[in-house]
Amino acid sequence: MVTHKYLLDESEMPRSWYNVQADLKPAIDPALHPGTKQPAGPGDFAPLFPMELIKQEVSRERWIEIPDQIQDIYKLWRPTPLYRAHNLEKALGTPARIFYKYEGVSPAGSHKPNTAVAQAYYNKQEGTKRITTETGAGQWGSALAFACHNMGIECKVYMVSASYKQKPYRKSMMESWGATVVASPSRDTQAGRNVLAANPESPGSLGIAISEAVEDAAKRDDTKYSLGSVLNHVLMHQTVIGQEAIKQMEKANAYPDMVIGCVGGGSSFGGIVFPFVPDKLAGKKIRFIAVEPEACPSLTRGKFAYDFGDTAGMTPLIKMYTLGHTFVPNPIHAGGLRYHGMAPLISQMVKEKLVEARAYHQTKVFEAAVQFARTEGIIPAPEPSHAIRAAIDEALACKKTGEKKNILFLLCGHGHFDMSAYDNYLTGKMVDYAYPEEEVRKAMAAIPAV
Ligand SMILES: *Cc1c(COP(=O)(O)O)cnc(C)c1O
Repeated sequence: MVTHKYLLDESEMPRSWYNVQADLKPAIDPALHPGTKQPAGPGDFAPLFPMELIKQEVSRERWIEIPDQIQDIYKLWRPTPLYRAHNLEKALGTPARIFYKYEGVSPAGSHKPNTAVAQAYYNKQEGTKRITTETGAGQWGSALAFACHNMGIECKVYMVSASYKQKPYRKSMMESWGATVVASPSRDTQAGRNVLAANPESPGSLGIAISEAVEDAAKRDDTKYSLGSVLNHVLMHQTVIGQEAIKQMEKANAYPDMVIGCVGGGSSFGGIVFPFVPDKLAGKKIRFIAVEPEACPSLTRGKFAYDFGDTAGMTPLIKMYTLGHTFVPNPIHAGGLRYHGMAPLISQMVKEKLVEARAYHQTKVFEAAVQFARTEGIIPAPEPSHAIRAAIDEALACKKTGEKKNILFLLCGHGHFDMSAYDNYLTGKMVDYAYPEEEVRKAMAAIPAV
């Protein structure tokens, strides 16, 4: 009999988040005020975020304790399982051992509640009554709606218009947890009205939706803003994933030769990879592979520069790999990976060659997703299917060389709300989008000079 799942007891859950900023050298460059272009101070962030999260954002403490109330909510679905993909290995005929950590067991179906619960908690501590946010594919909005409900906070979600139409059930999910959802660009904000005036048919983008949510929060005293990825504290909250995975890989008697994850803003990738970083810095042989879509290739084709996090240029400038804040990517099905930038921490690690990056077209990604569903059973979300593609390719490379490598990837969500994308693929209608060289060149020209 073989072991398929490596499980932890609730008592084995991590008690602290791991802050990779304690170990990363050189440190990341500071965020800059969008107007003065001087390093932004805590006061610049205070209208948008509670002070504890601002502190976490710049902290160099290696470990930050997870409050009991957050751990209690985590226990609704954590610890999450780690699987050995025996069936997939067999189908590939590879000598490699493939493991995956599965975050789709959370209430919202992805890794996102790990930070949503933490952010709602600190907001509650500091008296926030209402939180605004943006959502692309709907995963972040769902997670925050769930978390806000748990903390008794009102939640307003600006949902990228294209997704709002494609994924009505994500909207229903958010509303089931009590959130209010509008399609972005909306008429509720000046940023939204400006976009609609220029293009009434605008499909929206994450950058536009962020502008709307930030404007809404900045205008009201009782309201703060919450971001589901990119920021340092968000990536830190996700490190419960990697800390659990380390213990589970020990139970499986296997140390990973590589850790693979998809990257949109970089939070799930940081969550599984960061806890392994001290090993790599100490000289251990372990590769970290970040996988992105060819249609939105910030790490593989972008520029490492200061840029805005949103389209309207209201957020602080952050140093990251970017395709330009005005870039609107093609409507690929991996909605969660359609962001022009990348977390500064992940960007820095790519720059320092601690992390490798690669990109795939979506038909190759869905081919991997379907092979995974037909062997392992779980229907993966389109985003982590990028990681599955890379894991399969690495396993096939092992088949050629005969190497018995240990491959660990993060399956950060299920695809139950993405069946129209599967339908598109299975009926042969899915197309790949060429890298929009011309569009990106235009957007790159709009990156501010710093
Ligand atoms: C949001 C999301 C992503 C992309 O965001 P990251 O911050 O890069 O993790 C990827 N997969 C799933 C399932 C998501 O919900």
